[in-house]
Order: sequence, then structure tokens, then C-alpha cells
Amino acid sequence: MKKIQMVDLKGQYEKIKKQVNESVLEVLDSTAYINGPQVKSFEKELSDYLGVKHVIPCANGTDALQISMMGLGLKPGDEVITADFTFAATVEVIALLQLTPVLVDVEPDTFNIDLEAIERAITPKTKAIVPVHLFGHHASMEGLMQIAEKHNLYVIEDNAQAIGGNYTFKNGNQEKAGTLSHVGATSFFPSKNLGCYGDGGAIFTNDDDLAHTIRGIVNHGMYERYHHDVVGVNSRLDSVQAAVLRVKLPKLDAYNAARQDAARKYTAHFSSSEHIITPTTKTNKSCNNSKGICDTCDCHVFHQYTLRITNGKRNELAKRLQEEGIPHGIYYPIPLHKQKAYADKRYDESNFKVTNQLSDEVISLPMHTELDDEQIDFIAKIVLEVVH
Ligand SMILES: *Cc1c(COP(=O)(O)O)cnc(C)c1O
Repeated sequence: MKKIQMVDLKGQYEKIKKQVNESVLEVLDSTAYINGPQVKSFEKELSDYLGVKHVIPCANGTDALQISMMGLGLKPGDEVITADFTFAATVEVIALLQLTPVLVDVEPDTFNIDLEAIERAITPKTKAIVPVHLFGHHASMEGLMQIAEKHNLYVIEDNAQAIGGNYTFKNGNQEKAGTLSHVGATSFFPSKNLGCYGDGGAIFTNDDDLAHTIRGIVNHGMYERYHHDVVGVNSRLDSVQAAVLRVKLPKLDAYNAARQDAARKYTAHFSSSEHIITPTTKTNKSCNNSKGICDTCDCHVFHQYTLRITNGKRNELAKRLQEEGIPHGIYYPIPLHKQKAYADKRYDESNFKVTNQLSDEVISLPMHTELDDEQIDFIAKIVLEVVH
């Protein structure tokens, strides 16, 4: 059996090595290292793929979130509601901009922000909501956008984990995750579904004015050379990374399909265990597949394949996997509201029942584009031996 890895970047690279190397060498020869033609072409190709008007590349996913909030003109003291169960980058940028993060609970099945919890958290100071499409599954965006409209709030999608995923509206229409709100932010960190070979990120929007504002912010607040109209930052996707991404973007659907295929195989092993809850792909009531993994709507692109172990054996499982040489992750072991940096006296533990429980129960198994059946069968056998 091939050595099992959490993410097999090497195996994936081997298959596209010739194309990637040629594309990267072209950049080196061209010396257009910053804002070269590769960046412009990637921008266009990604906006076509996503069906969104504007793609603004930047240096990483954290910057993409921060710049989106700057572009919307959020001001110190504005409250921004986001999920308690996410990677810290989401809440970090809110705090850095001196906005007030308001963490709320998530849904037990999709792990995504809970709409009722959002409604309860809205105050006159609330200005924005940041749903995170966690582990590759989008938040309940249709209902969320209705809440936002009713209360006149901006919505910024943290799409670092769900690029390429589709959202199916109640009327059957589909659009890509990250393009469903005012602005979307993504990351091209190597292990993400569309990863480059360094750092990278991008911002998406259909709003022409916002796109213009953001293009200035990523470039030191300049709209005309050496005229600084707003306070900006320096955040660029470099041409070498764009060259890698241009090779990988046309393969993104196949990569996501390979992840879905691996997820289906895992789920087939676990679905009869009463102590394991497998990932759901529930999208909305028009989606027939509320259990199991959708064949039709691509609503989950499995950045992670995350189980809930409900009989208290999660830590025992983690230990056993380690002994067997099977990498795994606990995302996330501590809810954000319990982190020193983000704790707040206003928070009431009884409002975080789901995140508190998830942080004790979740475990993510190896998930990438190169997993084979032998590996999946072996991993599943070990999981079932421990959990039953
Ligand atoms: C990876 C990630 C980010 C940050 O992306 P970087 O490119 O590492 O800055 C933000 N939010 C979520 C949910 C992520 O998974």
C-alpha cells in the first residue's frame, strides 16, 4: 500500500509536473514576476469558471477576507457575526480591523453557521455576516441572504474550503459557492481544493464599484499611480503561483470529483455504524439527498472528510490512527469563543452547545485527490475496529 498522507501534494504534482514546470519556467524567463500576464489570464479564467464578474487575486486567503471587509467600508465597532466553529483566520481579520466579532453556534449536521443563531445575535450595530463554507459544504445561503436583506447587512463568504462547490437554489438554479453574496474570499494555500505552490488568495464579487475599490486597496490604496486615495495594503498573487493555478484550474472539477468519490467510499463503510455520523450533503429542501452524498448537485467538495464519533471514543481513535501511521486532523479542537484571543464576557456557554460538542466529537480522515481504494479500506477498517 502507498504511504497514507493527509494531503498527497507530491502524488498530484507528479501527474501534472511537465505542464507545471513549463508554465513556471516561462514566468522565470519572462521576468514578469509580479502582475504578469499569467496573473491577468488566471483572473479571467477563474471568473469564467465561477461565473462571477470580478476576481481580484491577492496574497492569501486571510488577506482576501480582510480586504473584503475593508472594501465594504466596515468601521471600528461594527459588529460582524461569524461561526464559532472555523479556522481562526476568519475571526482574526475581524478583530484586526477593530470590528467586533460576534461568534455564533453552528448546525450539527453541516457544521455551518446556524441561521437562528444569527438572527438572535443581530443588534443595531451589526453590519455584516461572514458564513464559512466549512470542510467543502456551503452554508444555508438562501435563508442567510434573506436575513441579511431584511436587516440591511453585508455578507462576506469565507470560501477558502469550498471552491468549485455548487449551491442549488430552491428553484433548481445552481451557482458557485463564494459568488452567492456581496463578496467572497478564497485561499490557494497548497492543501486547499485549488492550491498553488506557495501562498495565494482571491476575492470575488459581482459589484463593479466594490471591485474597483478592492483593486485599489490591494495595491496600497492607489487608483492612479502614486495617488493614495484610501489606506490600502500590499497583497498580490505572484506570477509563479498564477502559472501553477492556471494548470490546476481546468482540473478542479476532476479533483473535486475524486474527493467526492473517496467520500462516498468512506461513507459506504461507516453508514451502518451507530456511533459514527458521516458528513451530510444537505443543501436545501429541493435537494433530494438529505442523507448520504449527492450525486447530482455537487454541493460538497470535501476539503475535509469529517466524522462525528458519538460514543466518546474520538481520542482513542486518534491515538490508534497515529499508531497505524494514518494521519488525521481534529478541526477544530477548541471553539473560537474559548480561545484566549477571542473570548468575550458577553458569550453564554449555553449558546454554543453544538460547537462545544463538535470539538469533542469530530475527526477528519485523510482526504485528497490521490486516495486509492486500498488506502480507504484500510483506514475504514481501523476506524471501525476502534469505534464499532
Ligand atoms: C485556509 C483558510 C483561511 C486562510 O487562508 P490562508 O491562505 O492560509 O491565509 C481562511 N479561512 C478558512 C476557513 C480557511 O480554511
